[in-house]
Amino acid sequence: MPEERTQHFEDSKGRTGPEDQRGSVALFNRIEEGAAAIATPRTKNHEGFGSRVRDRSHACLACGQASVYRFLYRKNGCDILRCEQCGLGRAETMGFDRESYYNSDYFSGERPDGYADYIGTENILRRECAGTVGFIRKFRASGRLLDVGCAYGFFLHEAKRFFDVSGIELAEDAAEHCRRSGLNVFTGQADETLLGRLGTTDVIVLLDVIEHLPSPRDTIALLVNHLDPGGIIVITTGDFGSLYSRVAGAHWRLMTPPQHLWFFSQASMLAMAISLGLEVEHLDHPWKVVPLSLISFQLARMAGLRPKRIAISSRLGLSVNLFDAMRIVLRKPSR
Ligand SMILES: [Zn+2]
Repeated sequence: MPEERTQHFEDSKGRTGPEDQRGSVALFNRIEEGAAAIATPRTKNHEGFGSRVRDRSHACLACGQASVYRFLYRKNGCDILRCEQCGLGRAETMGFDRESYYNSDYFSGERPDGYADYIGTENILRRECAGTVGFIRKFRASGRLLDVGCAYGFFLHEAKRFFDVSGIELAEDAAEHCRRSGLNVFTGQADETLLGRLGTTDVIVLLDVIEHLPSPRDTIALLVNHLDPGGIIVITTGDFGSLYSRVAGAHWRLMTPPQHLWFFSQASMLAMAISLGLEVEHLDHPWKVVPLSLISFQLARMAGLRPKRIAISSRLGLSVNLFDAMRIVLRKPSR
């Protein structure tokens, strides 16, 4: 997904919360978020009380330890817990149906915490994608590239100038949009069957995607099997250990369960990569060009307002860096 591919003022693919069929939950969340934004201290008291009781033991998918996960707070009806060893955050959700969730509403501003107008901001998103392609080429100049969660294909269109590209996208409308624009994109999840049809590749990108996956470790392990030796995996995601994330707590802009299920810190990302036999080539907190309309959309959401279609031109973008999103390049060793 390009989702955000730029975005990062939310997640690039604009993943948002469950809205339609879970109307009552979403309404409750909006009320809760609105109230919390006005009275932050209330949230603090709420978080502290009884939290020890809600700690849980899990085998951590990042650091591999049988670890205690500390209860942090509840958000959107999900318990948010953090691994004591590596700092990986997880959202405990009840029955979230990904396939029915990621449809066109998701990208068109129909949901209150969604992506304002994904297609309307294509110019800005494409500019951001071109920058990402330039960054990737420092590690791998050409070859075959697979975009997992490619959304509307903005990134693939920029990447195809240098790479032989293909994509996988769960949202049928988005995948169809890609195919109509001439891209080789498959609808579905990055599973053994689909990856088997695609064959091996030199570069795999997951741009603001890993936090959405039901089982990120299993997916990355599968992708590594379909990566040629010496090939790279490029991941962008939030940084749960960042100052902004820690200060904002439940109000962090990327704390949006149940579409975001995992909240990686630098340590948890590195622990997972190393335990999968990958070499860490690079980790940074990049600047992003973000559509001004998306910023307005998210500010309205944070203020507890129901965002309407934004009247700001979709062509305006701002360079922002809240240092709460990271970019990682991992390499499969050449044997
Ligand atoms: Zn851990």
